[in-house]
Amino acid sequence: MNTKDHILRWVAFCAIAMFVGLVGRSLWLGLELRQGLERLSTAATDNIQWTLAQAEVDYLKYYSAVLEAETSGDLAHVRQQFDIYYSRIRTYAESGLYARLQDGENGVFLAHLNEGLDAQVQLIDASDDILLNSLPQLTALILKNRHEVREIALEGVELQAAIANRQRVQLHHLFAHLSAVLVILVVSLSATILVLIYLYRRGQSLTEQTVQDAARVQTMISASLDAIILADEFGKIWTFNIAAEEMFGYTQADALGIELSQLVFDSEAPPRDAVAWLFAQERLANQEDGRLRSTGHRLNGEAFPVEISLSASRSIDKGETTVWVAYVRDISHLLQSEEELRRARDDAMAGERAKDQLLTVMSHEMRTPLNGIIGSLDLLAKRPQTQENQIYLSAMRVSGDLLLKHVNDVLQLSRLKANAEPEEVQVFDLCQLVQDLVTSQHANALANGNEISFYCQIGTGIFVQGQRHSIQKVLLNLIGNALKFTNDGAISVDVLRQTGGVEITIADTGKGIAEDDLERIFDDFVTLDGSYGRIQEGTGLGLAIVKGLVTDMGGTVHCDSILGEGSTFTVTLSLQFVAATKADEPAQTKSFLQTVDNVEQQHRILVVEDNEINRLLLSQMLRDLGCEVVDASGGAQGLELLKQRTFDLVLTDISMPDVDGIALLRQARDLGVTQDTNIVAVTAHAAKAELNRIKAAGFADVVTKPVQQEALRAILSQFAHKNASRSSKKTALPITVDNDDALDRFFTTLGADKAQEFITGLCHEMSEFCLMLANASEMTLSMRQEAHRLAGSAAVLEFSELYEELLKIETAPENEFPDVTTLVAAWEKIHSRLQAFAL
Ligand code: ADP
Repeated sequence: MNTKDHILRWVAFCAIAMFVGLVGRSLWLGLELRQGLERLSTAATDNIQWTLAQAEVDYLKYYSAVLEAETSGDLAHVRQQFDIYYSRIRTYAESGLYARLQDGENGVFLAHLNEGLDAQVQLIDASDDILLNSLPQLTALILKNRHEVREIALEGVELQAAIANRQRVQLHHLFAHLSAVLVILVVSLSATILVLIYLYRRGQSLTEQTVQDAARVQTMISASLDAIILADEFGKIWTFNIAAEEMFGYTQADALGIELSQLVFDSEAPPRDAVAWLFAQERLANQEDGRLRSTGHRLNGEAFPVEISLSASRSIDKGETTVWVAYVRDISHLLQSEEELRRARDDAMAGERAKDQLLTVMSHEMRTPLNGIIGSLDLLAKRPQTQENQIYLSAMRVSGDLLLKHVNDVLQLSRLKANAEPEEVQVFDLCQLVQDLVTSQHANALANGNEISFYCQIGTGIFVQGQRHSIQKVLLNLIGNALKFTNDGAISVDVLRQTGGVEITIADTGKGIAEDDLERIFDDFVTLDGSYGRIQEGTGLGLAIVKGLVTDMGGTVHCDSILGEGSTFTVTLSLQFVAATKADEPAQTKSFLQTVDNVEQQHRILVVEDNEINRLLLSQMLRDLGCEVVDASGGAQGLELLKQRTFDLVLTDISMPDVDGIALLRQARDLGVTQDTNIVAVTAHAAKAELNRIKAAGFADVVTKPVQQEALRAILSQFAHKNASRSSKKTALPITVDNDDALDRFFTTLGADKAQEFITGLCHEMSEFCLMLANASEMTLSMRQEAHRLAGSAAVLEFSELYEELLKIETAPENEFPDVTTLVAAWEKIHSRLQAFAL
């Protein structure tokens, strides 16, 4: 009930109370009126008035009797009239009715009359003779009281007038009061009637509304697709809608009185205690977001899955008892759809996995023949060729490398998608890494008329702890893109130290990216220029890989760009900073040079590979490195050879049809092949987990396909050192590989133009460095850094003597200026050879 109704109820209550009060009051007033009228109707006042007025009449009668007796002598009549007069006056003096006469002036009159009477009594009571003779005296006595008698009679008239007046006033008041009460009564009665009419109408509309609501609820219950079941506090059903009838197979009449717990239960048999079941269900439902999954049981015994929502409420119809309301939904179809959806999702995921797997397998499988192609190209390029053939070979090598890059990109992406194990963290010189990358892209930059600059603000002697190769890959992609999409512009790479990490920005002044495209460039296979005639090639995987790698490292990457003005890619990485130690020095260059100084050593090597091209290629590369090579076309043949001969090194493929690489290793060790024979796995399965599995099998090392000659050199060097230290024979090998093979390879790999630019740059920088050293008196840090940078370039071109000399400069003792003459001599030797290549 609302507040307005409440107030009206109070008003009605007050009006009724007032009405009752007023009715009471009017009744009381009516009674009073009646009494007043009755009082008026009584003769009491008339009597008094009449009696008082009668005094004068009696007096006059008495007086006339006395006068008459003087002539007639009728004394008896005199005495009779005296008695009447006497008793009248005595009554006034003694009766309480005439109290008004007994006080004041009237009292004096009455006293005079009594005195007169006393005097007259003596004459009246005397004998007739005396009385007769005394009549004149009596007459005189009577006349003496004439004035008093008149006053008493007047008093009667006055009395009557006063009483009449008083009664009139009283009656007037009574009438006025009564009419006021009646007016109020009528008003309050009217108000009460109005309020009652209003309440009646309101009650009527409420009743209509309630009836309508009830009808609506009833319609909703009937029309509901869910079964709606109402049960009393004992769980017995008292409402069962049509949907419930259809769902459970009971008619409403049959269902009434059955316990709800007989229709919906999860156990073997219906629960015994229906009330306990209801409370337990309600508790469970509250924990489960109001809905529960359970099992419905039809009349024919069939069970089906249901979702039930159960709550307790107060019944209006049934007073204050608890009513259980249950909404039951048959979820057979839902579960079926869920199942179908799950199956579809599983199928889709399986399809996705199969696609990824196909991509991965295809990529692996493509890497193996690619290995053969690229390796063969390397070997062919080393043989004397006509200039035209060299051009074709160079083009094939470039295309092969590009294809290999694409294959590697796909593999990398599928590995990222498969959440492959992340790369191990290592300590490295981030500035150096970025610098090397920038240096390696110098020639690329020049080719498009771009300038590339580098700035690192991490601090000298500070290394970082992070995933070196992933960072390298990210930066290579971003710098590569910057170079690819910029012509005659500038690219800057900045490494800035931040709290807890670094921010690396790669900014270019290239073609830029439209704002709408900024979001999607990081998606797989997105290239903004999708036309067939597009200028820049690309698979659209680079940025997807960047995003994947950066995200895996817990970092972020984003791009700001203005179309036509350039782009800035910002990579933020959390990295730990550590002070550099000697052990942290980049191992790559060193090991590369170690390979250089061990090449001359003769090794007996067994190559086990089922793929013929790869076998030939591997063998040839090793022979080129001066090794004695025996090959086997499978694991079984390899084992046979191991039984017959001793090898320094065995290079075995992992996936082979008869005896695979891992089985070969185990069986070889079982045959007694000692650790002196290093068994190295060669595999195209470059996934980290796979590499770990192979390493765990006990291989001395793992080389991934396509195998490059440099990798073979590194392996040979590694085991030559190992064997040398094992035999305590330290072989000091001369550095003699300053030949043009490396230069040829460099040209083939980079392409003539880029290689030429690089070499021109190197000539220029080396000449400047030599000049600077000649003019300097002490070693500065920047000189050491420049020596380090140039040593890197010398290493790439396999100028080992120059490399050694630069290394000496870099590592020269603090207070000793190194002898630069040997460096200058080494440089001059190479410089004269490079003249042919430099621009
Ligand atoms: P790809 O370079 O192989 O096409 P990416 O994933 O590396 O694939 O790049 C996706 C697209 O983003 C490129 O095709 C190019 O349109 C755009 N893009 C990337 N980097 C740059 C950049 N520095 N300047 C302009 N456009 C860029």
